[in-house]
Amino acid sequence: MKVDHIGVAVRRLSEAVPRWAALLGPAHGPPETVPSQGVRVAFLEAGDSEVELLEPTDAGSSVGRFLEHRGEGLHHVAFEVENVNRTLADLVARGEKVVDRMGRPGARGRIVGFAHPSAFGGVLVEFVERP
Ligand code: ZN
Repeated sequence: MKVDHIGVAVRRLSEAVPRWAALLGPAHGPPETVPSQGVRVAFLEAGDSEVELLEPTDAGSSVGRFLEHRGEGLHHVAFEVENVNRTLADLVARGEKVVDRMGRPGARGRIVGFAHPSAFGGVLVEFVERP
């Protein structure tokens, strides 16, 4: 299973994008707002994977609460899967907790779904399905 991207919570994309771009090269296009997650995101290529920088658009969103409690830092790891709904259903069938029972619209037209951090030793894991 391929790592699709690593999600990093940041307070301001305007500060974080240039810092990461100095390491990885320019971001793929302008930031995109993802209403279903209450964030604005920017993606930067890192070999076969990417780094996703997430800025909350709403303090009550998952990323907003993360920043309030822990500050900026690594937020989640995303794996590419063929079918997000099936992957989530398999986790539930194994008795694991999930944040999403069904995939929802993510950035760049992809379908995404999150496992609960308790399913993977405290790591928030996202699954990504390309259209
Ligand atoms: Zn992500």
